[in-house]
Amino acid sequence: MSISVKTFASSAEAASALSGDRAARFMGGGTLIMRAVNEGDQSFNTIVLANDPALKQVQPQGDRLIIGAGVTMAQIFASRDLDFLHPVARAVGGPAIRNMATIGGNLFAEHPYGDMTAALLVLDCQVNLAGGQSSALPDFLRDRAREPRALVASVSIVRPQSGVFKFRKASRVKPKGVSLMTVAAWVPQSGGRVSGARIAYSSMGPTPMRVPAVEQALEGASLDETGIANALAAATNGIEPPTDAIASSWYRREVAPVHLKRTLLGG
Ligand SMILES: Cc1cc2nc3c(=O)[nH]c(=O)nc-3n(C[C@H](O)[C@H](O)[C@H](O)COP(=O)(O)OP(=O)(O)OC[C@H]3O[C@@H](n4cnc5c(N)ncnc54)[C@H](O)[C@@H]3O)c2cc1C
Repeated sequence: MSISVKTFASSAEAASALSGDRAARFMGGGTLIMRAVNEGDQSFNTIVLANDPALKQVQPQGDRLIIGAGVTMAQIFASRDLDFLHPVARAVGGPAIRNMATIGGNLFAEHPYGDMTAALLVLDCQVNLAGGQSSALPDFLRDRAREPRALVASVSIVRPQSGVFKFRKASRVKPKGVSLMTVAAWVPQSGGRVSGARIAYSSMGPTPMRVPAVEQALEGASLDETGIANALAAATNGIEPPTDAIASSWYRREVAPVHLKRTLLGG
C-alpha cells in the first residue's frame, strides 16, 4: 500500500487535514508511526506533517510552562527551563530515539511506553489542541482511543518547587530498557506533612494513570518510612497491572511498593 505525505506550514492547516480524513495520521518524531508503516499497518494511508515553529517552542506563562507538542526529549534535556524534566527525558529510549521522540507523541504511545506522560500527569497537565480546546490529561487519555484524532498543539504544566517532583523508571535493561514500572510523584509538604499529593504510574495499565488510593494514603503523612507505610500498602489498589514480555502482572504487583518507596524516599 502506498502512503501519501502531506506537509503544512501551520498547525491549523494540518489539523484541518487530519479532521477531514479518517485515514490520516499526524507524525511527530515518527518513532512509532514509522514503525507502524514498516510493519504494514493498514489503518492509515496518509501522514500529515506540520512545520509550524510554535510546535517546537517552550514558553513560561505565570507559574506554568507551555511546551509545544513537537518538542523532543533531546530538546527537553538541553533546556535549562525544563531541568526538572531532564531525568524523565533521559529515561525515554536511547539517544537516537530521544532525538526524534516528541512530548506530543508520548501522549499517544501505547503500553509499555508513556514515561513522559506519567510525569505530565502529576504536573497538572492540560492538553491544548490546535483548534483551541483543551482538556485535563486524565480526560485526554480516557478519550484518546474513542475520539477522532485531533492535533495536539502543546501541553501546559506547572513548574515544581525544588524537591516536590520525583520520578523513577524501573527497567530490566539499563540505561534504555522498556519500563517495568514508572512512577512520578508530586509531594508538596506543609508543616512536615504531605498535602495534595499526586502520584502516577505508567506500564501498570493500558495507559499511564493517576493512583488515587496512594494519593489518599499520603495525605497528612510524613515523608519517611513510617509515614508512607499505608501508601505502600495501597500501591496497587484498584489497579490491574498487565502481563507482557517484561514482567507478569503478579511480579509488577510484588515490586510496586518497592519502586514507590524508592521514588518517595530516594535510594
Ligand atoms: C526503540 C524504541 C524505544 C522507545 N523507548 C521508549 C521509552 O523508553 N519510553 C517511552 O515513553 N517511549 C518510548 N518509545 C516510544 C516513543 O518513542 C515515544 O513514546 C515518543 O515520545 C513518541 O513520540 P513521536 O513523536 O516519535 O511519535 P510518532 O511516532 O510521531 O507518533 C505516535 C502517535 O502519536 C500521534 N501523534 C504524535 N504527535 C501528535 C500530535 N502533536 N497531535 C496528535 N497526534 C500526535 C501520531 O499520529 C501517532 O499515532 C520508544 C520507541 C522505540 C521505537
